Formats: sequence, C-alpha cells, structure tokens
Amino acid sequence: MFAKGSTIIQWMEQLAPKSLAVPDDRIGLQLGSLNKEVAKVLVALDVNEEVVEEAIAQQANLIIAHHAIIFRPLKHLQTDTPAGRLYEKLIKHDISVYISHTNYDVAVGGMNDLMAERLQLTNVRVLETLQQEQMHKLVVFVPQTHADEVRAAILDAGAGHIGNYSHCSFNSEGFGTFKPGDGTNPHIGQAGKLENVPEVRIETIIPKSVRSRVLQAMFKAHPYEEVAYDLYPVDIQGTEYGLGRVGKLTEAVTLHQLSEQVKSSFEVSNVRVVGNLERSVRKVAVLGGSGARYIHHAIFHGADVLVTGDVDYHTAHDALAAGLAIIDPGHNAEKMMKQDVAGRLQQVASDKGVSTQFVASSTNTEPFQFL
Ligand SMILES: [Zn+2]
Repeated sequence: MFAKGSTIIQWMEQLAPKSLAVPDDRIGLQLGSLNKEVAKVLVALDVNEEVVEEAIAQQANLIIAHHAIIFRPLKHLQTDTPAGRLYEKLIKHDISVYISHTNYDVAVGGMNDLMAERLQLTNVRVLETLQQEQMHKLVVFVPQTHADEVRAAILDAGAGHIGNYSHCSFNSEGFGTFKPGDGTNPHIGQAGKLENVPEVRIETIIPKSVRSRVLQAMFKAHPYEEVAYDLYPVDIQGTEYGLGRVGKLTEAVTLHQLSEQVKSSFEVSNVRVVGNLERSVRKVAVLGGSGARYIHHAIFHGADVLVTGDVDYHTAHDALAAGLAIIDPGHNAEKMMKQDVAGRLQQVASDKGVSTQFVASSTNTEPFQFL
C-alpha cells in the first residue's frame, strides 16, 4: 500500500511545521497535486533539470526539496525558457514538488540542528530566536475513580514536559459538588440532587502546539458529561525556535583542525576560511545556507567561529576586524538534508506499514567548480 501525497506531507510537516517558516518564504506545494498515491519520493536540495530527470528515471511522483522552484508570481508559462521547460516536464510526468525551506532550517532536528550534530556541538542554543512557544497551564477536576486514566491520557498526549522530564503533573485531592439540571445524563448522581464527589485536581503544563490534542484526549478519557477544567496562559518560556545554532566543541581545536572537520562531516571538498588558522576555537555558531548577515549574532553569543555559506568579501573583512573566524563550506553543504529527510520519512512509512519509498537524490546541484 502506498501513502497519499497529502499523508506524506502531514508527516513532513510534523518534522518541519509550516508555522516555523520566516514570513514570505516560498514553502509548501509549489507544483502538481498531493491528491494521489505516491510510490516513490525523491528528496532533493534543489530542483533542476538533472534532478527532474532523476525523478523520472526513478519513477518518483513527488519531489520534496529545500529550495523553491517558483520564487515570484509567474506572469507567463513559456515552455521555451529553462524554467518553463522544467515546469512542463514535471507536469507531463505527473511529478509534484513540495518545498520545506526555513521551516526545516528552524525545526527542532532540522537543518541547523543537523549541522550542530555533525560537528558534535554540545550545549546547543538557537542563534537568532524567531518564536518562543506559548505555554498553558491545564487544570482538570476528575472523580478519584478515573484520575489515573485521565492523567495518563493527557500526559501521553504531550502534556507535562519540563526540560528532559516528561509526564510531570501535580495532583491534589478534594471534593467536587454539582447538581445535575433537567435533561442531563450524569455519570454520578441524579437530576435535581446536590452531589458531593471525591475528586482529584490534576494540573500540568502544555505547549500551545499540542493543546488541541491534549484537550481531545482529556475529553475522551473523562467520565463526566461536562468536564470542569481551566486553561490559562502562563508567563514561562516554552521551546525557542529560530535560525542558526551555537554550541561548544568538547575541546578547543585550531581553526585549521575545525576546517578539516567541517570538510569531512559536511562532505564538501573545500571550505573558505577567514582568520588565523592556528588560533584556537571552541564556541561555534552554525547556520545553513547564507549566513553572512548573522556575524553579529555569532559575536553576540561569544562564538569564536561562524560556519556558514555564501560569505562575501566585505562581510569577511568585518568578521576579521571583529575577531570572528569564519568557515564557509558553501551553500551546497545543505545537501545533508537529503539523507536526513529521506531517512526520517522512510522510518515513518515503515512504522505505518506503508511501502512508499523515500530516496535521497544523488544529483550534485553544486553550481560552482573548484579549479
Ligand atoms: Zn539554502
């Protein structure tokens, strides 16, 4: 059984929710339809003619890519231009294209985390915070007989995460009173008679993103017709989402050594380096794609070196003057997303018993040659 395109994208958006994208980013379904069965998905960094040929040869009918294929509203669709030819070929072969860009960069476990992980950084933090998740306090009153069931339901649905601890709750016993009105069908008691029931007050914390899932689980597990609960925003910090990461190497190395490490762990043949190669570096900022405008964020966080692509001449001079080293592995270093996304989606598919295949594109879309 193959998964539908829309189902695959639901899985993808669990890895990289659309709400994490920076404003006006070109993400989502850009071409074709998701209303079809998908036998094979090709995961690519860029969609160019070679990648489309690869999709055709592989009989893939969905491409998930990082970089958009349509940047601004099309004024025409002439098939004798390179872009028009590409769109025509995709449509003729019924290949849809879905883009996950800055939402994947920002996502927990996405591009920037992947880079930090490849460099084995520790104490990793976000370089530039874009959003912070709103947290809510959930309090629910449950008859003692059902407290374990309701508690398990809401905690299993994602409530009660504090740092690396899950299933956190506080429980206090008391009694609840109620008088069922006319036309009610009470779990306990009878219409018109005041009841006094031993109850447990269960309180826990939930991030906004799982709020509806937790409430649904709570309503399902709760025995009462009318559930008494409170839900209110609290002024504590939820998960930080943003671009880039900053963390520490387990021990200081020279800039030269780190450059070699970037080459091997990012699988690139060369890097451009700014700074004295013998200087010691330990605190490292990373940002996938073009991170030249983040040198000040890296300096603010006390980073010794920024690892990012597309660094220009004047930015390199500014960094040098400010004492920040730079290692530029090129924008194409983002190709590491192909294996990551294909592998994680393949895992979801096999967990669900679906036979759709996910393949990392083997096309090298690096436009530069190094002579
Ligand atoms: Zn990019």
